[in-house]
Amino acid sequence: MLRVGILGGGQLGRMLIQAAIDLDLRVKVLDSSPDSPCAGIAHEFVVGSVRSPEEVVRFAADVQLLTLELEAVSVEGLRQVEAQGVRVAPAPSVVELIQDKGRQRTWYAQAGFPSPRFQLWQPGEPIELPFPLIQKALQGGYDGRGVQRVTRPDALWPQRSLLEAEVPIAKELSVIVARSARGEIKAFPAVEAVFHPTAHVVEYLRIPAELSPAVEREAQALAEALAERLQVVGLLAVELFYTTDGRLYINESAPRPHNTGHVTVKACWTSQFEQHWRALLGLPLGETRVHSFGALVNILGPAGQYGRPSFPKLHQWLQVPGTSVHLYGKAKSTPFRKLGHLLLLAESPAQLHERIEAVRAQLEVQVVPNERTA
Ligand code: ADP
Repeated sequence: MLRVGILGGGQLGRMLIQAAIDLDLRVKVLDSSPDSPCAGIAHEFVVGSVRSPEEVVRFAADVQLLTLELEAVSVEGLRQVEAQGVRVAPAPSVVELIQDKGRQRTWYAQAGFPSPRFQLWQPGEPIELPFPLIQKALQGGYDGRGVQRVTRPDALWPQRSLLEAEVPIAKELSVIVARSARGEIKAFPAVEAVFHPTAHVVEYLRIPAELSPAVEREAQALAEALAERLQVVGLLAVELFYTTDGRLYINESAPRPHNTGHVTVKACWTSQFEQHWRALLGLPLGETRVHSFGALVNILGPAGQYGRPSFPKLHQWLQVPGTSVHLYGKAKSTPFRKLGHLLLLAESPAQLHERIEAVRAQLEVQVVPNERTA
């Protein structure tokens, strides 16, 4: 039985474990939170920091393969683990590149991947781009935190950052692509994300995206070219912008399973999680085709509330035909935190839309404040 380690114990790790069971892998997880979604599910759960090189090295001492479910890990730790003869995927150099949005954007542009005009900026330097522009913190942002649209110079956060020209987005797309240890590459069909108007969290997304076959092919080809160029092993989730004037730009990518890929679990022949393991183990990659119209609706923590979540509408959700639920087992809800998701299948886009609306009308989450978080 192969012993694999996962850095990070969140919901992505939890779903990686579900898929790992089918391949009879023995999974060990490192996370700083003892009540994270993987605790109690992994074969072995270690409480510790994924950002500490020493703790990563100690954790990986008895695994044969190390992977991750988030990029914010110690690259130094990954390098040391690799130097000790353990297979590490994605490679430390890829993780290092992805960790910094400035470095990532510079790399895409230099490698010839379509990028908005951009500038690495620090306070005091002249701004070379027209307003409005998009300002991005170099590190640590997620779900839109650390990103702002800026209309005037005095609204810029006074920090080193990546500035990008605003592109006229018609659709936000994501293509999950896998590259196996043997070099085989396969992209899933593009997923189309629809965002919350203010919180910048995906509200729902659907597969297949509504795109012409030519644009669909171009999006998949870009993602495959990126995975090849980066020599990624495992998954690469590539976020793309499709603009009102018909262009595709690469926004950013992540070398791991991705929230936008959950819909593959039910709507595609192979799930992103199974595909990640197949890729890491050098097994043949699975068919990525869509067999139904599918959607994902995130179940998010309600605004302004902190505490233990519960889901009083579970019964109603599951009454909608074609719907299944995945609860992440998070002990604490915070505003807009991802607590779970619903997957919906349908036989036509219109039916899918109806079902999305039916569950979105009753996405209630109850939060019981507890003493520590009230
Ligand atoms: P995060 O890592 O938090 O998801 P992103 O870099 O994806 O941050 O940016 C968050 C959102 O900001 C995107 O989903 C998109 O809506 C918008 N955005 C980012 N870059 C641009 C851009 N160059 N032009 C227009 N909108 C952008």
